[in-house]
Order: sequence, then C-alpha cells, then structure tokens
Amino acid sequence: MKALLRKLVVKISLDSKPFFMGGLTLDLNLIFLGPPGSGKGSQALLLKRDYGILHISTGDMLREAVAKGTPLGKKAKDYMDRGLLVPDDIMIEMIEEKLLQSSLSVGFVLDGFPRTLPQAEAIDNLFKKMNVKLTAVFLFNASKDVILDRLVNRRVCRNCGALYHLKYSPPKVNGKCDFCGGELYQRDDDKEETILRRIKVYEEQTASLIDYYRAKGVLVELDANRSVDEVYMDIKRWLETGSHVG
Ligand code: AMP
Repeated sequence: MKALLRKLVVKISLDSKPFFMGGLTLDLNLIFLGPPGSGKGSQALLLKRDYGILHISTGDMLREAVAKGTPLGKKAKDYMDRGLLVPDDIMIEMIEEKLLQSSLSVGFVLDGFPRTLPQAEAIDNLFKKMNVKLTAVFLFNASKDVILDRLVNRRVCRNCGALYHLKYSPPKVNGKCDFCGGELYQRDDDKEETILRRIKVYEEQTASLIDYYRAKGVLVELDANRSVDEVYMDIKRWLETGSHVG
C-alpha cells in the first residue's frame, strides 16, 4: 500500500512540484548516510531538481558560515580544515535552528547529518517534536579507492554549487561552471591527506549509525561505486516501488 502511494506520489511530483496534494503532506523525508565522496551531494541535487524537495547539507551550511566569517564559521573552520567533526553541541543547535525555520512539507534530504550517535538521537527527538516521519535512510556504500579518485578530482562551482569531476564530468571550459559561468574551486578538505583523515573519522564516529538505522528498519543500502546516473535510477526505483538493485 505504502509502495503504491509512493508510486503515485512520484508520478504526481513529476508533473507538479512540490510534493503535496490536497492538503495531504506526502512523506519523503530522507537521510543520506555515507563516507565523504560517496555521492550524497550529487544525488541530493538531482532529487531537489526533479522533486523540489529541500537539500539540507550541513557541510554547505558550515562552508557558507566560514565564507561569511560568522562566529559559527570561525568556530568550525579549524575542525573542517583538519578533516575532523565539528562538536555535536554546535551541530545540533545549527540543525535545530535550520529545521525549525524551514517549511518541511515539501520533503527534505538531510545530507551529512547526523554523523554521531548524539546527533542521531537529537534529530529523532526533534522529528518527534515537529511531528516529522522519517521515510528512509539511504546508505551510500563506496570503496576507499573510488572515494579518493572522486574527491581529489572534485571541483565545485563557487556560485551555484554544481559538482564536477575533472576526468568523468569535466566542465566545457576549464575552471568555469557550465550552468552559471561561476569559478570552479577545489575544497580545502579535498586534499589527499585530509580525505584519508575524513574517511577514518567516518569509520570511527559515523559508521555505527548504520546499525542504529538498520535496527529501526529504515536503512536502504546502495552500491555507490557506480555512476551518478546508475545510483540515481536506483534511488528513483526505490521511491517508486519500494525495491531497488544495489
Ligand atoms: P561535508 O561537506 O558533508 O563533507 O562536510 C564537510 C565538513 O563539515 C566535515 O568534514 C566536518 O568537518 C563538517 N561537518 C559537516 N557536517 C557535520 C556534522 N553533522 N557533524 C560534524 N561535523 C560536520
């Protein structure tokens, strides 16, 4: 029944964004879990483009705060540059503020949050308080070699956030965004040494959330070593039918 409803939802949403009809709020409230470079951001951008759901990336929020030089940005910068997690109290306060001020009725993807058990428990409590039901947690499984290759070659548009890979999806003009002409840059933490630290931090502090969400029966595992298109097809298949391939 749920799969059928979801199929209808996806069909409706293709014709008319955003994701609700006749006052009925349709639940597409997702968490993306996975190591850095596993493709969470690319998939979230595609879901936002096709279904109009919110893309809430704590990494993007922090980078914006750093660029603006806000007190939050000043506190976070050193942790980020070293590939370490920003402390839980700062992150929980930031995400609570963001969710409370957002209109969540269109659905959302949380990309990069939670990353620790205290963060997961905090978001559970917040969802309860806000009467939000989590639809699924997609786990992006990717190997270390694939992650390294993706991140070392990743370039980001400073203006619109579009993502490029220097070998597999290069921009048409070197250093310029195809969509808006913005300048492409390499993230400070996309250097090999920092990437290896971020992978270790993921394994030590975040990977335990896999069991946490599996026990709740909401975990959907994806083979994220595949191309962006293949993974996206799989996510869409799950959204439409409740089953998927990898
Ligand atoms: P991301 O863009 O998701 O790879 O995040 C970039 C960096 O921001 C991470 O390496 C952390 O330093 C910080 N960060 C983002 N989200 C979180 C989080 N939920 N908890 C702690 N630190 C975070």
